[in-house]
Amino acid sequence: MDHFQLIDGVMRCEGVPLAEIAAEVGTPVYVYSTATMVRHAEVMRAALAPMPDPLIAYAVKANPNGAVLATLARAGLGADIVSGGEYVRARTAGIPADKIVFSGVGKTEAEMAEALKNGLYQFNLESDGEAETLSAVATALGMTAPVGFRVNPDVEAGTHAKISTGGAENKFGIPIDTALAAYRRAAALPGLAVQGVAVHIGSQLTNLAPLEAAFRKVGALIEQLRGAGLDIAVADLGGGLGIPHNPALPDPPSPEDYGAMVRRIAAGWGARLVFEPGRLIVGNAGILLSRVIRVKPGITHPFLIVDAAMNDLMRPALYDAWHAIEAVAPRGGKMIANVVGPVCESGDTFATARELDAVQAGDLVLFRTAGAYSAAMSSTYNSRPLTPEVLVDGDRWAVVRPRLAVEELIRAENVPDWLI
Ligand SMILES: *Cc1c(COP(=O)(O)O)cnc(C)c1O
Repeated sequence: MDHFQLIDGVMRCEGVPLAEIAAEVGTPVYVYSTATMVRHAEVMRAALAPMPDPLIAYAVKANPNGAVLATLARAGLGADIVSGGEYVRARTAGIPADKIVFSGVGKTEAEMAEALKNGLYQFNLESDGEAETLSAVATALGMTAPVGFRVNPDVEAGTHAKISTGGAENKFGIPIDTALAAYRRAAALPGLAVQGVAVHIGSQLTNLAPLEAAFRKVGALIEQLRGAGLDIAVADLGGGLGIPHNPALPDPPSPEDYGAMVRRIAAGWGARLVFEPGRLIVGNAGILLSRVIRVKPGITHPFLIVDAAMNDLMRPALYDAWHAIEAVAPRGGKMIANVVGPVCESGDTFATARELDAVQAGDLVLFRTAGAYSAAMSSTYNSRPLTPEVLVDGDRWAVVRPRLAVEELIRAENVPDWLI
């Protein structure tokens, strides 16, 4: 459930009409609902509550805006980070060090040292080489790094290839069959304290079966590692649970179903469980608000040219993602259109032959499910000003990232003196 609702002909985010935000901030603009984020955090917490002290580490890459992170920090979530920049963002937003998990296949020595010195719960390692490097970094600092390995369970997640990470030929994790040897080598390194196992097989999963298969393999590995004398106290089960976004598709499993499955598999592990939800927390807590620039006739269907483009919302171009598109003030009636942005790329297409509310030039439209992997991936391609972001909380709202004007982008560049 989210808090973007059409009530008496007025589309609001919580108590704020979207048209008011568009009038004051301009379009395109991302709008986030505090109540929706907090509710999703609570639903997840309730689903996992029967397990002892689970750590819910929000995947910062889904939406790293400082106001979003501060909202989730207040809701008690930790952070799953994948870069030094995300570490700084998480701490700046008030997320405590002991709730931070550091994932990612290419952590640099500088990133490792920064996180070690300032504190974290666990590094999830993805190769022997990374283990050796981290041990050296920790030893040089006179510290010990808490670690687990991310294992690749070789299950197909059944999601889009670009967001599937658990197959054998994937760059992520170490093959689960070779994990015991990797753990033995890591345990012998002076700068590491081996404590956990981690897995994450992909994103927008709409079926629990691949997750369940992966978790069973993790359970077997924990037993094997303990049998070899390793003290495994943490099992990080990653993120990836899908969210409803297209009314024509069946709803993905609920957090309750997911929690029940995890309990069934992991209840006997005697390990602290870590979860890394990203999309689940923020995906449906955000929309992208845009204005129709013009309607251009096409051969089969008209082109609805909106002022948002692939630089603002990249998911359709990158993943063929489907976003619901609705009028902010429906005039009544429907139309079939290709919805496109102004960027000079054919990939700048949000929807093809889509039936949607009939709209005209000047009308506001919204793209739903734009809270995750949306503003986070926005760029200034085609020298378009960076998309602003707004956070709503009840009847109040604030711009939490301003629109960066092209003059500011130019000021941040440098023309060498031989060209002046
Ligand atoms: C991206 C990512 C997540 C979050 O995935 P969602 O599908 O947004 O829940 C969690 N863990 C890791 C390691 C990731 O790379």
